[in-house]
Amino acid sequence: MELVDVRCPICGSGRCKVLYPDSVKENNDGILRFRQSDPNNTTRRIVKCEVCGLVYTSPREDEETLERIYLRVEDNDYLKEQYWKIKTLKFNKKILECYKDGGRLLDVGCGHGFFLDILDGKWDGFGIDPAISAVNIARQKGHRAFVSTLENAPFKSDYFDCITVFHVLEHVSDPKRFLKKANQLLKDDGLIYLEVPDFGSAIARLFKRHWWYIMRFHTYYFTRRTLDKILRKTGFEPLTWLKPTKTWGIKYITWKLIHFGEPFKIIYEIVELLPLSKISITIKAYDQIGVVARKVRS
Ligand SMILES: [Zn+2]
Repeated sequence: MELVDVRCPICGSGRCKVLYPDSVKENNDGILRFRQSDPNNTTRRIVKCEVCGLVYTSPREDEETLERIYLRVEDNDYLKEQYWKIKTLKFNKKILECYKDGGRLLDVGCGHGFFLDILDGKWDGFGIDPAISAVNIARQKGHRAFVSTLENAPFKSDYFDCITVFHVLEHVSDPKRFLKKANQLLKDDGLIYLEVPDFGSAIARLFKRHWWYIMRFHTYYFTRRTLDKILRKTGFEPLTWLKPTKTWGIKYITWKLIHFGEPFKIIYEIVELLPLSKISITIKAYDQIGVVARKVRS
């Protein structure tokens, strides 16, 4: 498969140092590695910009190839996690409502429509996602969801009060272009609420190459510093930084740890056999960043 070299989208520099080498083993497009619930953490080469410090994968598949892969992604294991996912998203809704009372909202990467499911009457919710199968499920539930990237989304400028982007920015081909488009779709003083894995966290530094967010489909690895920089460059002012509160089912956690080796595989198999589907853990995710930012200019 043809790979392309990528320049840093924050500063435009091509000067970078290699952090982790390419470990992809597939000869095909590796579509199974593009599911959120995939436990395998092989990756394209990960580099760090020598000018601004942004961490990203390069060389990697070009944008067209990535879009083609996402279009076909199906992830039924993710659907099994629905109950916990919704619990997590309720924390996010609470935070959002500290800043906005309601209004027109776009959930980017809406998947099966879990966030749209929990919005009540004061919100007028829309969703977009690049995966057909996920959007079909969201639409069956009655949501206004579309198969689209943000850049091609069918909305007018100054249309939304709020855009939520939970674990999407680390997947896009050009985060600067993405955020500029979000800025354009927002009304003046509109809010963007982002969540990404935190490459600068102690957990990421401890686990290095084996950190669970090192995944084939992650194109960027932000830290609070690089996320702040790119938000300010694209017309946003961060209002609050937070560590997201997350709920995970015990089965999902053990499934994600499988790649650490045989003992973890055995633990997962035992957990699978036990009636543990109702057991979950709610914690602050110290290796993730949440940020609510306001549009200050277009
Ligand atoms: Zn840079």
